[in-house]
Amino acid sequence: SKIAEAEKAKKKKEKRPELLVPPLTDFADLRTKYKLSKRVYANILAQGYLTPTEVQMGALPVFMNRELELEGVEKDSPIDLITCAPTGSGKTLAYIVPVLNQLLAQKTTDKTKGVRAVILAPTKELVGQIVYETKKLAKGTGLKVSQMKKGSQPMSATAAAAGASSDSTSTEPVIKSDILVSTPLVLLHALESAPTLMTGIQHLVLDEADVLLDELFRTQTLGVWRQLRSTSPSLRASLWSATISSSTEQLAITELSLTAPPPSILRLI
Ligand code: ADP
Ligand code: MG
Repeated sequence: SKIAEAEKAKKKKEKRPELLVPPLTDFADLRTKYKLSKRVYANILAQGYLTPTEVQMGALPVFMNRELELEGVEKDSPIDLITCAPTGSGKTLAYIVPVLNQLLAQKTTDKTKGVRAVILAPTKELVGQIVYETKKLAKGTGLKVSQMKKGSQPMSATAAAAGASSDSTSTEPVIKSDILVSTPLVLLHALESAPTLMTGIQHLVLDEADVLLDELFRTQTLGVWRQLRSTSPSLRASLWSATISSSTEQLAITELSLTAPPPSILRLI
């Protein structure tokens, strides 16, 4: 029966859609094929990056273009992505650029919408680095990026929980940022004291996902996911890491509901 089970597991694995997307071999293709904003493209070039790294080649076409028809993934359906690539391989750009582009495409509607993308990372240092990288790529776009700070939040969060009715309009977001980067615990505390702090989140990025879902951080990370999901039902998650253990993968499927369509796993390691 063990053999049968292994056979079954293998079949299940085989069913997962293969991402048959041509790799992005030149950043210029982001402009011509994937409608990347001129400004973000210029910001990439300003970094001196000449060619996409391997993970960028693989992940950018998938993550950039949701209209793309993928084998086994319905057209226009959101794509969940689990991306595995070594440390130092340029994963940050691979998730930031598509997120920036997605947000820029919606910019015309309402600039005061509040936070639309959340990036979680396990340490304060990493959060700082992500903010730094994101700011460079978002320069001149009008998109605001900020770090969720421990000390600064509780006051406005309390105000939000209390309705903050006196001198502000009810539609005004508490956090005036398009992209928020945080460690799980800081964000979880803020969300627990003000559950409706963020209601329009479209994307949750788990950077160093294996760490965010290990025993130490799991409760906090999943807590953030549940809180955000409850007020932003169309929220999608993507996982980025140097390693994804099978238990992390399982957790992503059962807890983060990366099931419909099945998550696409891009392995470059
Ligand atoms: P990871 O998250 O996969 O560990 P990072 O996103 O932190 O990697 O990127 C590692 C380094 O590579 C950073 O200093 C970044 O600026 C640089 N980098 C990213 N993309 C490119 C590229 N296409 N060409 C050259 N350097 C790049
Ligand atoms: Mg990284």
